[in-house]
Amino acid sequence: MIQQPDRKQSAQLYEEAQRHIVGGVNSPSRSFKAVGGGAPVFMQRAQGAYFWDVDGNRYIDYMAAYGPIILGHAHPHVTEAICTAAANGTLYGTPTELEITFARMLKEAVPSMDKVRFVNSGTEAVMTTIRVARAYTGRDKIIKFAGCYHGHSDLVLVAAGSGPSTLGIPDSAGIPVSIAKEVITVPYNDLPALEAALERWGDEVAAVMVEPIVGNFGMVMPESGFLEGLCRLTRAHGALVIYDEVIVAFRLHYGAAQTYAGGHFPDHAAIEPDLTAMGKIIGGGLPIGAYGGRRDIMERVAPLGPAYQAGTMAGNPASIAAGIACLETLRQPGVYERMSALSEKLAAGIADGALRHGIPLTINRIGGAFSTHFCDHPVRNYEDAQQTDGEQFALFFRLMLNQGICLAPSKYEAWFLTTAHTDADIDATIEAADRAFSAMK
Ligand code: PMP
Repeated sequence: MIQQPDRKQSAQLYEEAQRHIVGGVNSPSRSFKAVGGGAPVFMQRAQGAYFWDVDGNRYIDYMAAYGPIILGHAHPHVTEAICTAAANGTLYGTPTELEITFARMLKEAVPSMDKVRFVNSGTEAVMTTIRVARAYTGRDKIIKFAGCYHGHSDLVLVAAGSGPSTLGIPDSAGIPVSIAKEVITVPYNDLPALEAALERWGDEVAAVMVEPIVGNFGMVMPESGFLEGLCRLTRAHGALVIYDEVIVAFRLHYGAAQTYAGGHFPDHAAIEPDLTAMGKIIGGGLPIGAYGGRRDIMERVAPLGPAYQAGTMAGNPASIAAGIACLETLRQPGVYERMSALSEKLAAGIADGALRHGIPLTINRIGGAFSTHFCDHPVRNYEDAQQTDGEQFALFFRLMLNQGICLAPSKYEAWFLTTAHTDADIDATIEAADRAFSAMK
């Protein structure tokens, strides 16, 4: 029998939070709405791979704050960099040398970016790539893939995707139909659908936007030839290719999905995008976003060009210093291999437990990230992910939480390993999953 530990303080804080903060949370994904509701856990402290909540319960963290915390919480090198930056002034409103250092580091790791710009979130980075693509092509429409999340700006909050290609229906109130009409959604991993959409609207399309490796309906790899075909078809219609690498940049290796080798993309030149958006990990846990790409396209941005984008907080010394410290740590030999080995062991242990207890489970694992889909079919697009059992996931989520294992409260989110997780954490998590599956039968 798995008992719920005492979480009275969290429940009380949730009551209070709801009086002052919409829904009690500052991002809807933090609420427990998708896993049956109730009070989310209020954390008080985090160190390495662990959280402690306000009631004193300890958790092993596999959320990594939805991706950024790849070194675990309060990593000493990052913390020191932030403290040093803060002591020298947190915001200047002038350029600083550190921004050049960091831009160079990103460009070296992701050579398709001739020039970059720092912003404050993944949302901003993506939103701006679209503006730049529109400015460059003089066209208005974009094509995106169903289930890919690109932040909360108007244009990309459209996922609607029944049928091979659908003109946008907004996923949020407050988005004018006139804007949603500029978005065409097609299923991921479906080149014929993309081709059909381009045939129909191609000369109006500014860009095709994609998560080159998906992190937002679980982890999903592009099938062989998908990105190559996407780049070829898009360019044949005079549109730009935009990669949203906000989750995957520096998650799988020291670089982005577009430079990921491991036998996945033998011909990197064939999958190079025109523009790339990043965020999350590159801020070392502080707010950041970045976008970059081909010189002639990026030079359309103000002050060089007519596409306007600005930011009071952009390139702030603390975020930049944290990002540099994070990447310096990730660049050490063996870092990604170790995370991937832990993730492989954990995913195998969980899969084994599910099998033994007769619970259908599909695990999609890529390096130090994986997703657990309660279903007996492969998950290669959003429709597959939608057809997984959300109630089973919710039950599993709570049974794990009650044993001190913290997952993101949504069946669409991934598990993220960090450099702070240990073999003992993995063993404890596999045992907890086994007890959870046993209770679910
Ligand atoms: N793009 C992708 C692929 C994302 O996963 C996210 C956030 N989960 C965003 C963009 C938006 O980033 P942010 O939350 O920093 O605005």
